[in-house]
Amino acid sequence: MSVKYTIGKIAEVTGGQLVGVSFDVVSRLVFDSRMVFEPEGVLFFALKGGHNDGHRYVSGLFERGVRNFVVDITFRISDELREAAFIVVPDTLKALQQLATLHRARFHIPVVAITGSNGKTIVKEWLAQVLDGVEKVTRSPRSYNSQIGVPLSVWQLNAASTIGIFEAGISVPGEMPRLEEIIHPTIGIITNIGTAHQENFLSIEQKLHEKLKLFARAEVVFCSFDQRMIYDAVSTLYPDKTILTWGRNSGASLQLLSVNRDYSTQLKLVWGEETFVVDLPFTDAISVENVMPVVLFLLYRGFAFSDIAARVSQLQPVAMRMEQKEGINGSLIINDSYNSDFTSLEVALDFLNQQGLKKGGGRTLILSDMFQTGLDDSVLYPRVADLVQAKGIDRFIGVGNEISRFASYFRSGDTFYTSTEALIQALPGFSMRNEAILIKGSRAFAFERVSALLEQKQHATVMEINLNALVNNLNVFRERLKPGTKVLAMVKAFGYGSGSFEIASALQHQKVDYLGVAYADEGMELRQAGITVPIMVMNPEEKSFGQMLQYNLEPEIYSFKLLEAFNKAVMDYGADSVNIHIKVDTGMYRLGFFDDDADEIVKCLRKMTHLRVRSLFTHLAGTDEEVHDDFTRHQLALFERFCQQLEKGIGYKFMRHALNSAGIERFAAQQYEMVRLGIGLYGISATKDVRLSNVATLKTYISQIKTVRPEATIGYGRAGKVPTGGKIAVIPIGYADGLNRHLSNRMGEVLIGKHLVPIVGNVCMDMCMLDVSGLDVSEGDEVIVFGDNHPFTVMASKLNTIPYEILTGISRRVKRVYFRE
Ligand SMILES: *Cc1c(COP(=O)(O)O)cnc(C)c1O
Repeated sequence: MSVKYTIGKIAEVTGGQLVGVSFDVVSRLVFDSRMVFEPEGVLFFALKGGHNDGHRYVSGLFERGVRNFVVDITFRISDELREAAFIVVPDTLKALQQLATLHRARFHIPVVAITGSNGKTIVKEWLAQVLDGVEKVTRSPRSYNSQIGVPLSVWQLNAASTIGIFEAGISVPGEMPRLEEIIHPTIGIITNIGTAHQENFLSIEQKLHEKLKLFARAEVVFCSFDQRMIYDAVSTLYPDKTILTWGRNSGASLQLLSVNRDYSTQLKLVWGEETFVVDLPFTDAISVENVMPVVLFLLYRGFAFSDIAARVSQLQPVAMRMEQKEGINGSLIINDSYNSDFTSLEVALDFLNQQGLKKGGGRTLILSDMFQTGLDDSVLYPRVADLVQAKGIDRFIGVGNEISRFASYFRSGDTFYTSTEALIQALPGFSMRNEAILIKGSRAFAFERVSALLEQKQHATVMEINLNALVNNLNVFRERLKPGTKVLAMVKAFGYGSGSFEIASALQHQKVDYLGVAYADEGMELRQAGITVPIMVMNPEEKSFGQMLQYNLEPEIYSFKLLEAFNKAVMDYGADSVNIHIKVDTGMYRLGFFDDDADEIVKCLRKMTHLRVRSLFTHLAGTDEEVHDDFTRHQLALFERFCQQLEKGIGYKFMRHALNSAGIERFAAQQYEMVRLGIGLYGISATKDVRLSNVATLKTYISQIKTVRPEATIGYGRAGKVPTGGKIAVIPIGYADGLNRHLSNRMGEVLIGKHLVPIVGNVCMDMCMLDVSGLDVSEGDEVIVFGDNHPFTVMASKLNTIPYEILTGISRRVKRVYFRE
């Protein structure tokens, strides 16, 4: 059913030059090397993003069997790669877009494009939900709405599709016409216009006009009547198009008369002369905004009021991301209730596959019947069965009548249950240990009950780690490096408090060259959890040498005593050649040889034939501050002299490295062969680099709210007062979680919604109190201790310390929860 093109055809469409042998047929476009498991039919586009370069992954993919590539003219096709087909183009992204444009042109079906500042994904998902059973919808997976996401989305159109629904998002002027060309919408929806992604636009008007270019060839445009700026712009720009509007103001094509909130939200609506009511199963205001274009769309398509009401009452929430949680018995739970189409299953399985496996654990997929896939069951489930096989799922559990009917397409060991209830009954019989478990269910199956059973019970306070942000930050730093400079990522101290294994696993996937840990134990845990990248141990203790050799951990050698001892351990162990890293102290006065020890080291090393110097490095004491720049240069000069002496003495080359995160930003010329990246991964920049993103969010919830009498005192030592009365909120986080007690008595602030709220009274061991007087807050509300809009750097400066201490000080009892957007 999926569309196939020959390589020759694609070369022709993209105007590329075809180099190599294969004339394969391709059906799958990939730009992210992690998304390749079954190489057959894959065409890999080596895209150069702002931060990353896909060409770097070509040879690795070739080894994994991929044979079709689109590369740009700067790529040198080495002899080993001659057995593959290369389409060489000036601009690989443009080629991807051209191909998608051609593909789109083959379909003569309605195509809806959605743009706007907020709500695009929800409106798209809800449209797909309400059209279920009537149309075969092909839509953007997740929020694939960028210059890359849009072509990949459009590529999903296939012979069965009866309607396409795609999102389009832009961040700089000039991007929309390209998206318009690819999507070629016949129907346009603009949800709203706000200040999101405003940085690159002169004004909101400019951004709006840019967005509206998406509708150049559409016949119908849907927009809000209340956001006057949008309506005016649409009617001026497109006087000849049909414009359908929604809003509270009279004059809107679909007018919202009243909103009545109870356990659901009743909307009283007017369409033409007629009034009707729909019952929205949500009670928040944003959902009301988002459902209006959905209802309007159904009206436009001729649905009856009663049918619309029935469909809207069945709407399901749209979870925006995959969540990763710690599960029972060392397992890892990935929860994806986002949507249940085939592509999102692929995306989720790829995410599952990125998880390094723990020893003795396998990969489990629990999957329900899938709706809204745009495919017939008889096509869908055999395909799912193939996918399960191809992606190396060890244990498959299918839930639902439909999927069970196709059990024979699956492997003999796979299990099926007709209902969630039946699975829950059987669950204790599965011994899940150290497993990575992907739970993916359509809403009707209420799989949250399954995941609740598999999750480890949580202390309500969690630290969320945004793995996309981590990868982004890595790439921002990489962009500062010369091609070929290696990256050692520091994951010491529980990955700067963010978790060792999960962070290391994400970094390994991004192909960092080395990981650095403080102690051998940390390295050993990473190895046991399945991390294979070379690991340097900065503080190797003699008693751990055996362990280090066994787990292939490479020591930092900083003294003659250590050198002798390690050499002896290597001989006892009987290893042939072991990598070591020599550390020279050029002025930090921490671990390291002195700068005049070079000759002596050479003498030793000549005798120690089993040791191989893999690198020589030093640590700089003040790279983040200009006042120390002369000293930094002095350290670097000593280091270079030492490097030369050592190289001359031992007669072979080794890697040299000196820069930490701030050093990479401020002394790029001294990156040598490798750099050591640490805090920068978590979004901290010595040069205020705005491209970095926050990674860690410490959040908790309000346990209780209390009204306070004017004379009352709050907490231990009676230190807290809310002088005019008011109310306080108790939150379950205290100094034992890493909330420093110096934040007591209004020193510290947390974020509730948009409000910064002070801590009142003394911070207790497991709790503290907030002054929430005058604020509209409720028990159970989320409280951000630090996060994207309330950076931990603020807390650090209040406490007169550095951001490192804040992150590493969050105690281990606070669960780390990982997610990717
Ligand atoms: C921690 C550490 C780094 C990383 O420093 P950041 O400032 O976090 O980038 C680099 N090198 C050594 C030796 C370290 O101990």
